[in-house]
Amino acid sequence: MKKLVKSLLPLALAAVAVGAAAQEFPGSKPITIYVPFAAGGPTDKVARDLAEALRKPLGGATILVDNAAGAGGSIGANKVAKAPADGYTLLVHHIGMATMPTLVRNIPFKVESDFEYVGMINDVPMTLIGKPTLPANNYKELMAWLQANKGKINLGNAGVGSASHLCGMLFQHAVGVDMTAVPYKGTGPAMTDLMGGQIDLMCDQTTNTTSVIEGKKVKAFAVTSPKRLTVPALKDLPTMQEVGVKDFNVSIFHGLYAPKGTPAPVLKKLNDALKAALKDPEFVKREEGLGAIVVNDRRVEPAEHKKFVLSEINKWSPLIKAANVYVD
Ligand code: ASP
Repeated sequence: MKKLVKSLLPLALAAVAVGAAAQEFPGSKPITIYVPFAAGGPTDKVARDLAEALRKPLGGATILVDNAAGAGGSIGANKVAKAPADGYTLLVHHIGMATMPTLVRNIPFKVESDFEYVGMINDVPMTLIGKPTLPANNYKELMAWLQANKGKINLGNAGVGSASHLCGMLFQHAVGVDMTAVPYKGTGPAMTDLMGGQIDLMCDQTTNTTSVIEGKKVKAFAVTSPKRLTVPALKDLPTMQEVGVKDFNVSIFHGLYAPKGTPAPVLKKLNDALKAALKDPEFVKREEGLGAIVVNDRRVEPAEHKKFVLSEINKWSPLIKAANVYVD
């Protein structure tokens, strides 16, 4: 008996230490939110806005945003999957969480079981945009330009498995024109090249495209939402459905994740803070101004967030398999 008590003691002490650390969370140590794409892009923007909105509900904690870009968002996700499960390392990721399991052949983590799902942040439509010198001024003219330039068209994306890749792939399939994919570490750097005319076209979240469309730095042809958007800079853009592409509805969701095994009290604090952030008028105004829809439904609950991501895996998996694209 004595022996048993002796061998259980270190375990009990360790559990007490973890419990105490969880109660203290967030302590003085900074929290780092990893973005699996380059700085300056839409996922980065959402993460930085969220970090700002989380600060107050997390008692003024220091929240840093770091970029771990590459391989269509799987490098950053893997980094967080393998990080200490103490609440100080988090991930903001998008629809890639649902497409990576099918797209990345040797995925080094399991989306289903290597993360704690903290809650969803927003849904963001995409826009089909082109370089400023493109001679087409609307979708119809774009179609004519595509036909006339077959074999010479470059389409930027954030790597195989990214949202821009997925949207671009569906677009090429829908219009029956093959384009050369030009991968970047995020659509932040891809946008610089699109504005400079080094690439011809791109499909990207409105959180990254609204200001450049407004500033006429790129040409815009359509939105991927089922309904037109109300944001002034985007309200005149037709939906893909309107221009004749049936069932083209691509909405990019963003969610917050922690490594599997993060203590329940820490997850509760993070989820409470997320709920407060999603109600922060400043955050809501900023997101809505960029065409994003802040989550205001049950998907802010961890179990519903996970259920939604799993349903998205099932939705995209057959489409990706049919398109036969993979990342090795
Ligand atoms: N919008 C990018 C994508 O295509 C990612 C990013 O740079 O945030 O997935």
